[in-house]
This record gives sequence, C-alpha cells and structure tokens, in this order.
Amino acid sequence: MRLKSLELHGFKSFPDKVKLEFGSGVTAVVGPNGSGKSNIGDAVRWVLGEQSSKTLRGSKMEDVIFAGTEQRKPTGCASVTLCISNEENELNVDSDEVSVTRRLYRSGESEYMINGAPVRLKDVSELFMDTGLGRDGYAIVGQGRIAEIVSSKSGERRSIFEEAAGISKFRYRKAEAERRLTQAQDNILRLTDILTELEGRVGPLKTQSEKAAKFIELSEEKKSLEITAWMTELKEIKGKLSELEDKLLINSSEYSASEREIEGLEERQRTAAKDMACGNMLIERLQDEALEAEKSNTSIHSDIAVFRNDISHCNEAIADLERRTENARLTGSYPKRRPRPRALRKSCPVTRRSLTSYISVSRSLK
Ligand code: ATP
Repeated sequence: MRLKSLELHGFKSFPDKVKLEFGSGVTAVVGPNGSGKSNIGDAVRWVLGEQSSKTLRGSKMEDVIFAGTEQRKPTGCASVTLCISNEENELNVDSDEVSVTRRLYRSGESEYMINGAPVRLKDVSELFMDTGLGRDGYAIVGQGRIAEIVSSKSGERRSIFEEAAGISKFRYRKAEAERRLTQAQDNILRLTDILTELEGRVGPLKTQSEKAAKFIELSEEKKSLEITAWMTELKEIKGKLSELEDKLLINSSEYSASEREIEGLEERQRTAAKDMACGNMLIERLQDEALEAEKSNTSIHSDIAVFRNDISHCNEAIADLERRTENARLTGSYPKRRPRPRALRKSCPVTRRSLTSYISVSRSLK
C-alpha cells in the first residue's frame, strides 16, 4: 500500500486545484514558515475522516475551507482526494487503486466517496482500520507529536501500539458492540416504559377490541346479507331481462312481418295506382264515347222526327189512293196505272232504304 497522490481544492491555503504526486522513495515538502506544509498533513488527516477541528488546527470544521484573501474571494467548498495503490489488496476494495474523497460545503453539508461512489464516514474508517492509516493511525505524526508520544502516559501510548498490533479493529468492533448493547438496553428500558403504560390501557382496549370484534362480525353479517339481497335482485333482474329479451325477439319477428306486410301493401298500392290510372283513362275514353253516342242519339231523334213526318205524309197519300180506288170501283172507271204524281212523291218520301234504317234505329233505342 503506497500513497500515490493527494488532490486539494479549496482546502485551507489551496484555493486552486493542486495535485501532489508521491513517487517511490521519500518525498519531502519544503517551504518557508507559514507556506502551508502542515496544511498538506491536515488534508490527509481530514480526508481520512478527522472530526476534531482542534486537531486540524482550527476552531470549527468550516475553517478548513479556503477563507479568502484581500485579492481573492473565499471558496464555497473544500475538497480533498487521497489516492493509494492497492496492488497487494491490503484494503478491502476490489481494485488496484483506491481513491478516498471528502468534501465540505459552507452550508455544513459534507460527503465521502470511495472510488467515486458515495459512502458514509463509517465506511472510510473501516476501510483503513488496522492499516496504520485512519484518523487515529500512527502513519501521520504531526508537528511536536513525537515528543508528545514519548512523554505521554502509557495509557495514551497504548492506542498507538494497539493500532500497530492490528487489534484496534477488534477494539472498534467491541466499542461498536458495546454501543449497540447500550442502545439495546435503552430500547428495552423504553419498551418497558411503553409496556407499563400500555398495560394500563389494556382494560379499555379489551372493551374496545370486543366492540371492534362485534362490529367486524356484524359488518360481515351485513355484508353477507347485502350480497344475498344483491344476488336476489340480480336474479330477478336476470329473469326480467330474459323476459324482455323474449319479448324483443317476438316484437322483432312481428316487426319484420309488419315490414314485409307494409312492403306488400305498398306494392299493392303501386299496382292499384297503376290500375286507377288505367281506369281513369278508360273513364275518359268511355266519356268521350258517351258524348259521341249522345251526339248520334240527338241526330237519330231528329231523323225519327223526319221519318214520322214522312210516314204521316205517306199515310195521307195511301188514304187518298184508297179513296180514289173506291171511287173508281163504284164508277167503274179504273184509271190507267200511271206513275205517282210528283206531288205524291213529294208528300210521301218513304223509300225502302229509309224504312229499313228507321226500323234499325227503333230497335237500338229499345
Ligand atoms: P510552519 O513551518 O511555521 O509550521 P507551515 O508551512 O506548516 O508553517 P501551515 O501552518 O501549513 O504552514 O500554514 C499556515 C498558513 O495557512 C497560514 O498562512 C494561514 O493563513 C493559512 N491558512 C490556514 N487556514 C486557512 C484558510 N481556511 N484559508 C486560507 N488560508 C489558511
């Protein structure tokens, strides 16, 4: 495991992004007093999860963010990324290189990332446990810290040796377990309090529970009754529906029959209209014929009057002839047959043809 690079941006005296590459061998950072050498060590501590602003030589955590100068405005956030080679898989991450990033905003919001993925502080602490790195590790020894270690009490030195011996992980787990145990005990205490409080409410709750059970029972009964009622209603509706469907079927067939009947009637109406038109034409023709017959009737009547007049004249001529014949028989002088005088022909104009037509007209009038 080897430190490869450290990238600072907006951290303490590094407002611009700065990347420090660490090659193999020893790397020394040299500079005048106050130039920011110790800030690099602070950056390493900080990115590994240091929570004490005092250890970082500030009064509050926000002090790690570049505070600005006369020429330059303060930055809004501090960001440090530490890159470590992991070719021997000393860190429990499945990659040859592990980068750890910590970022802090002036709003107080902060974030940790391992290989670009957001993680919790706990994950960062666990990653470096027993490696000598980490916030309590011995890999970072600050200014005057050697003298402090040598001169401090044996109890304080112990944590450094424990980290080096690799038992700090177990100590951490023990502390975690103890913390959880304490939490569990607190929870038990709280639960006991709640239980005591709830025990006092058992009586009324029992009554309420009985009422609730009764309510549920009655609700179930109501539901079942409602379902039965609905089923009955549904059955009735289905029956009515079936009846209506039958009626609809009958009405439909009646409707079809009526339609067919109407079609037949319409056909008959059309035929009757045609017949009526023919009848009208026949009536018109017969009226014309009747008119013609009327005319011919009038003419025949006038002919009859003429014929009667002729008959009367003929009867007179016959009577005259009979008188003269009688006179001749008495006197013995038979006149020679002589043609009828013109006067007689004129007074009796009846001819054989005129008599025949008279007889036929008389018959037709009968
Ligand atoms: P020495 O050799 O005396 O120990 P050094 O080189 O280690 O000094 P540091 O102590 O790392 O120097 O840096 C101190 C400088 O960092 C000071 O000039 C201080 O103004 C500057 N500094 C510390 N915190 C901030 C901050 N938040 N914003 C801007 N500058 C800061």
